[in-house]
Amino acid sequence: MIDIFGMTLDELQAALAPYKVQKFRAKQIAQWMYQRGARDFAAMTNLSKQLRETLSADLVIGRPKIKDRLDSQDGHTTKFLLEYADGTAVETVLMRQPYGNSICVSTQAGCNMGCAFCASTLHGMARDLSKGEILAQAVTIEDMLREEEAGAKVDTMVIMGSGEPLMNYDNVIAFLRLIHEDYTLGMGYRNITLSTSGIVPNMLRLAEEGMPISLSVSLHAPNQELRSQLMPINRKYPLVDVIAAAKNYADKTKRRVTYEYILIDHLNDGEEQARELTALMKGQLASVNLIPINPVVERNLMRPSKARIDWFEKYLMDHHVNVTVRREMGVDIQAACGQLRNKHLKD
Ligand code: SF4
Repeated sequence: MIDIFGMTLDELQAALAPYKVQKFRAKQIAQWMYQRGARDFAAMTNLSKQLRETLSADLVIGRPKIKDRLDSQDGHTTKFLLEYADGTAVETVLMRQPYGNSICVSTQAGCNMGCAFCASTLHGMARDLSKGEILAQAVTIEDMLREEEAGAKVDTMVIMGSGEPLMNYDNVIAFLRLIHEDYTLGMGYRNITLSTSGIVPNMLRLAEEGMPISLSVSLHAPNQELRSQLMPINRKYPLVDVIAAAKNYADKTKRRVTYEYILIDHLNDGEEQARELTALMKGQLASVNLIPINPVVERNLMRPSKARIDWFEKYLMDHHVNVTVRREMGVDIQAACGQLRNKHLKD
């Protein structure tokens, strides 16, 4: 059986060619799969019964199962654990924001970047996800939204789930092109943010793709030594090169780069780090997003007091750095980021 979920229209037309399916029918099939929640050919009532039966004998629409689900108490955030046919599972999150429905997708099952503060890396990386497997996360959520309310859709997307997207470059770029197509979710590139730990060569490639998505860089420390302590990848791609690649991205795409900075008590939230961070941001088309850490007790990484968080934010503002503190959504389940999957791995 051939799985057609995740195919582009061209790929689908090629797969359907042996069955003499006309081009407009191929587009209808794509719309059934990606926009109308069809999980098999039987649902595609505008195709003849005979064609539906012929296609069902050879082709499948491979969709992941919803293995688990966590809803935040405020009802705004829902986290899904999706399981693909081979048993691999990833987390996907829906955030119902005041400005629309936002999703966070994963690009790898697990991650081998080894960031000190992250649960997704604890079991290493199982495998890369294909473009169809990443798209399936968005389609699953959009199907659910449409069932809740006619016309509801996914409005924005962050690529910030498990995995380093720029280590799965070809699949991620193919996915971005696919989710932008009018026969899938038709998502505008400007509504998409990709977050990277700083894979410099692929940050440079991304700037040349002609795809004006927003780039978010996980910074988390303002100097080489401390960043290497928190993010091992910084030894391979040093901070200075990451900043240069981010500047290049902003220059080429005219898109503001966001630097994510997890605030950790008495580690990176002091006056010296605030001064260093201010110096790094000088002259950049960029903003800093401060994220008070969810404590990692085993590693003694604790959340700063509100007073320290406020002080750090004010220091940056006073020194003309664009800064925000991440609005907390569904803290009760955000705290478990990466942990839903880990729990199932243990089970
Ligand atoms: S923070 Fe991102 S890059 Fe770092 S280990 Fe976690 S998933 Fe991987």
